[in-house]
Amino acid sequence: MSMGFIFGPVPSRRLGLSLGINIIPFKTCSFNCIYCEVGKTTNLTIERKSFFDVEEIKREFLETVEKVGKIDFVTFSGSGEPTLNKDLGELIRFVKSFKKYKVAILTNSSLFFRKDVREELAECDVVVPSLDAVLEESFKKINMPHKNLSIDAIVDGLIEFSSSFSGEIWLEVLFVKDINDSKDDLDALCNAINQINPTRVQIGTVDRPPAYTSAKKLSPKEMMDIYTYMSAKVGKIDIIGSFNKENDAFYEDIERSIVKMINIRPCSKEELKETFNADDEKIDGILNKLFEESKAFVQDFEGKKFIVGNRSSANI
Ligand code: SF4
Repeated sequence: MSMGFIFGPVPSRRLGLSLGINIIPFKTCSFNCIYCEVGKTTNLTIERKSFFDVEEIKREFLETVEKVGKIDFVTFSGSGEPTLNKDLGELIRFVKSFKKYKVAILTNSSLFFRKDVREELAECDVVVPSLDAVLEESFKKINMPHKNLSIDAIVDGLIEFSSSFSGEIWLEVLFVKDINDSKDDLDALCNAINQINPTRVQIGTVDRPPAYTSAKKLSPKEMMDIYTYMSAKVGKIDIIGSFNKENDAFYEDIERSIVKMINIRPCSKEELKETFNADDEKIDGILNKLFEESKAFVQDFEGKKFIVGNRSSANI
């Protein structure tokens, strides 16, 4: 029986088709970010643990990759902080041992002060660390970290990691209005970013319902101002999220991914909307096309409607 460690593949502008691995129990995290889209942290911890049977995760990975066909990345992420799982290194090596998958990880950076975590992440192809604030006070407000975490130690860990890492680092900064968007915040961030020297920097703001209603988004104009200010100091900045116009190629990817997903297991429309961060209109448009082409069908199960695939069309 599948335990739900593996999800997707999900199309991403940056990672192509990415198969996700979630190895952390729901909302077990070292932070309790005010903007978290998953919800409030229920287990705030910095203790690394073996949360699940590692063989079970490997087995589910093998079962899934057999079915999904070509994927570009295997990405460790999920509803908590993946570096809290102390089997992470073993799992990264396991995925890399197939020699055909690139590995990425999305992390909140909190454990970069630990040598073991830096060594484990060194095996990845792409590391996507977040760094929202470098000033202690703003860090505490936006990330509400575990009490034993220090932002200085985290930034030092990121600098140390980056100095010897051979893959790419895509640093992410999420801005919340009046929390981490002051000039002092931006200056401190730019200074740290220049020392970390990531491959690229991606900035965004609150795009989905946050864990705390106090997390307000910045306007497009405010984001553009920050972009302009930071670009002058750091360069290589991209704005991510709803500011980027969705493009057709991206939606073609969604269509392809939906077909793959429903060929693996029936999905509700809500699930598809959530997975692909798309609205009703977009999902309906894609599904209607798939219905017409007989690549998708609706099936009732105990009063709920599910979209199921036609496995023979798995390789579109
Ligand atoms: S680090 Fe990620 S999972 Fe943890 S609270 Fe922040 S946004 Fe949520």
